[in-house]
Order: sequence, then C-alpha cells, then structure tokens
Amino acid sequence: MAEEKRELPLLDSCDLLVCGGGFGGISASLAAGRLGKKVILLEKQYVLGGLGTAGLVTIYLPLCDGLGHQVSFGLAEELLRLSISLGAEAEYPKSWLEEEDPSRRTRKDPRFRVRYNPWLFAILAEQALRKAGVQILYGCYGVDTVMEGDRIESVILESISGRQRIRAGAVVDATGDACIAHLAGAPTKVFDQGNVLAAWYYSLGKAGYDLNILGFSDVPSEDRAGEEAPEPLMKRRFSGLDCREVSEMMQHSHASVLRDLQKRRKQDPTLVPTAIAAIPQLRMTRRIRGAYALDPEETHRYFADSIGMVADWRKRGPVYEVPFRTLYAPQVRNLITAGRCTSVTDGMWDIMRVIPCCAVTGQAAGTAAALTTDFPTMDIRQLQQVLTDNGVALHWQELSRC
Ligand SMILES: Cc1cc2nc3c(=O)[nH]c(=O)nc-3n(C[C@H](O)[C@H](O)[C@H](O)COP(=O)(O)OP(=O)(O)OC[C@H]3O[C@@H](n4cnc5c(N)ncnc54)[C@H](O)[C@@H]3O)c2cc1C
Repeated sequence: MAEEKRELPLLDSCDLLVCGGGFGGISASLAAGRLGKKVILLEKQYVLGGLGTAGLVTIYLPLCDGLGHQVSFGLAEELLRLSISLGAEAEYPKSWLEEEDPSRRTRKDPRFRVRYNPWLFAILAEQALRKAGVQILYGCYGVDTVMEGDRIESVILESISGRQRIRAGAVVDATGDACIAHLAGAPTKVFDQGNVLAAWYYSLGKAGYDLNILGFSDVPSEDRAGEEAPEPLMKRRFSGLDCREVSEMMQHSHASVLRDLQKRRKQDPTLVPTAIAAIPQLRMTRRIRGAYALDPEETHRYFADSIGMVADWRKRGPVYEVPFRTLYAPQVRNLITAGRCTSVTDGMWDIMRVIPCCAVTGQAAGTAAALTTDFPTMDIRQLQQVLTDNGVALHWQELSRC
C-alpha cells in the first residue's frame, strides 16, 4: 500500500505544506513565507478564511484581557487590522485602534474586537499571502499521507487534476479537524459532547445588511450574562466527523435560516438572505493529543516554552501563555498544528478555538516550521526570538510594558 501511494504523480515539493486556509493556516503560511520558505497552502474551498469567511463567523474576538491589556500581538493583531482595513462592520473599538496611550484605551471600548466583512477579508488575505510568496492551491483536499517512519514524506490530495501528492519537509495541520494528524497516525481526541446546531447567515432588508446569529455557543460570554439563554435550534448534537451526519446538519441549518426569514418577513417583506454558510458551522470536532494539553485552570501561568498569549473571549481577566508543546504530537515529528485543533483539555477548547487564538498558534506553527522539520527537538529560544522579533509578546509579566 505504501509503495502504491508513493507512485502517485508528484505535483510539487516544498519546505512547508499548510493544509487548510482558515485563520490558523493563513497565519502559518504568512509566517513561514515571510521567513523565505517555499510554502504551499492547500485549501479544499475556493476562498480563504474557513469558518471566519465561508462559515460567516465574522466577529474577530478580543485580543485583550478585558482589563485594558492587549495580550495577543503579531499576526493576530495584523489580521484583525487587515480584516477592517476597507471598513469595519458594526463594532469598531476606536480607542484600541487609534489611541497610542494604553491607559486611555479601555474606558470607551472595553474589548479589542471587531466585526469584518468576510469577502473583503478573504481577498485581502489572499493578496497578503501572494505578497509573502505563498502558493495557494484551491479545490485541493488533503486525503492521505505517505509516511517514512515517524515522518510525513508527502500528503496526497484530490482535486480537478485527480489524485496527486506533494512532498514537504514539514506539514502544518490547519484543517480545524486534525484531518492530517489523524491520517498520519498521530493521537487525536474527538469532542464527545458534540456541537449544537448553528445557522448564522447574512440578510438584507429595510434595516440594511446584517449578520443573523442563530445558534449560540454552549458557554455564554459575560456580555450575555443575565440574558435568558436562547433555546437551541434543535436538541440533537453533531460530531462533524461523519459525512452523512454533516450533510443532515447542513440541511437542518438551511431549514432554520428559512424559518427565521419567514418569521422576520412578517415585519419586513423585503428581507432576503444574502449569504448562507458554505461550510459546516462546527465549533469543535477533533484535536491532537499533543505533548501538552493546556487547561483553563492555568490562567497567568508562566510557561518557559510560551509562543504567545491568548485571552478568554467569554470573560474579563484570564490570560493564557500557550506552550509550544500544545502544537505537536511527538509521534509524527514533522507535523505541527494550528488553529482549533491544537492540544487542549475539553474545558480549554472553547477558549482556544476562536479566531485570535488560531492566529497566535498559526504564527507560531509557521515560524517553527521555518526553523526546523523536527518539532520535538525545536530550539525554543530561537523560535521565541523570531516570534518576538515579529511583534509577539510571550509572557504575561511583559504586559505592563505593552
Ligand atoms: C457557529 C460558530 C460561531 C463562532 N463564533 C465565533 C466568533 O464569534 N468569533 C470567533 O473569533 N470565533 C468564533 N468561532 C470559532 C472560529 O470561527 C473558528 O474556530 C476559527 O475560525 C477556526 O479557524 P481554523 O483556521 O482553525 O479552522 P477553519 O476555520 O475550520 O479552517 C480550516 C480550513 O481548512 C480547510 N480544510 C479542512 N480540511 C481540509 C483538508 N483535508 N484539505 C484541505 N483543506 C481542508 C477548510 O475548508 C477550512 O477552510 C465560531 C465558530 C462557529 C462554528
């Protein structure tokens, strides 16, 4: 079998193959491309951004701790600014974006988050990647790996060109579902609880153009504290790892959009949907079991191998340093993860899956892959130096200086 796989036509070779073009994959590709590596980005859709564009999840959650400290920097901030560079939708935290003095930032805009237009972001991200020399391959689905012992020799993809393979020195799994890790035999964990149904969609009516949020996360944010939890769209939960189940989920989601529109059309008969999700709105599916799993109890904990920091989007205060060890499983030495499939405990998953955290882990994964193809023996000091040179703050003690 292994030999048969090896005989598949070789489409290309690269230093780094990034599988998945959501916020995790975009950040990983930008980081490695800017460090001069030959990077190929595989994306099965024909648009970049993943859930953050095709999934219509266009709220860039906070880069700050809610107490006035920015905690996520580097590409997490660059992509936030890029997302609204041609205009923000709804939220615009003026004091964070325009105020130089940090002490004056928080009064009016307690959290550094924005809402952006998905399609503008997808195009702007594509241009940024092209400028960084990244080769984007759309319509390419990573479906298997060719292994050489405990390393991935190449990734097999399917596309309009048929079944081919790409040889890579290192691979970033930014599929959101740990697809490549699973195929390569790395240990993974599925989200046992399953996902609630979501049906976020855009509409245009008398009140203008708007994002309609149907189907909240299980864990509500402080902003919604005191509000009555909305009824879930349906009782059933979805793993996201079975094609028949996901197809059914999409149909339930579409039916929920229609029901919502019909209800709202009684007030505004002009209302029409302008975009429905092109990919399933699944929050948590499968992640790696890495060398370390970050837990929500570890707020403000110092990690010597921190690659950056993230906040808790749901409440003010918690700050997490993210250990490099959460990005890889030692069983597959040249594979690293970025985005919502990194190694965390169940409780931490809901914090780490959101857009700014995906950008933080993406930048670290891409930078690491530009420096080594053997992640368990990574020179952490060197990685941290390159990250800090590129604007990342690693430890919460540094925050008073930001
Ligand atoms: C309903 C819902 C609401 C949310 N609300 C928010 C919110 O308000 N704010 C926020 O910040 N976050 C929110 N999130 C979370 C956030 O949107 C995502 O977790 C985040 O965008 C994930 O980024 P990612 O790059 O890890 O993965 P994804 O965005 O899932 O991107 C993965 C990409 O990989 C591609 N891909 C997958 N498998 C393969 C393969 N085998 N080969 C090639 N390509 C592949 C996919 O097409 C996709 O483009 C929400 C999520 C959901 C579902």
